[in-house]
Amino acid sequence: MNQGVQILARCPKCDAALPVDAPQAPASIRCGRCGQDIAIAITESIRADRAVDRCPVCQGTDFYTRKDFNPQLGLTVVIVGALISAVFYWFGRDLIAYGILAGAALIDLVVYGRLKEVTVCYRCHSEFRGSYERTAPAFDLHTADVLEVEYERRIGRR
Ligand SMILES: [Zn+2]
Ligand SMILES: [Zn+2]
Repeated sequence: MNQGVQILARCPKCDAALPVDAPQAPASIRCGRCGQDIAIAITESIRADRAVDRCPVCQGTDFYTRKDFNPQLGLTVVIVGALISAVFYWFGRDLIAYGILAGAALIDLVVYGRLKEVTVCYRCHSEFRGSYERTAPAFDLHTADVLEVEYERRIGRR
């Protein structure tokens, strides 16, 4: 099921997180917290869920990828896996028990490692979730320092 890219746009004025569906995104949105009008310029690639190439909020082209952490879900998978494998272990089915444990760990790895990665704009911190291929590198503190200052100067926060 492809729902397109989900964008969590950051209001340049008050930093509120504003959810936007890329396929149905309007040309501009109004911040629900401070009333600021924010222009949304979505590229063809983002609309088609192919790649995040240019930030619709700040027009920046620098992104990083980070884990979209959902600790509760991961923990549940491991605990349920451990419980099921304990039952098999109790009945002397060691191999099945280890198999289930490994399966739970594998599900955990897939959930964390591949499917749940979020792309973040270095400048305005807008977030992008979709089935497009993650190409952005991991977070780099130096890049973040430089680009955040540049952006905040541009929007008059510094
Ligand atoms: Zn705002
Ligand atoms: Zn941005």
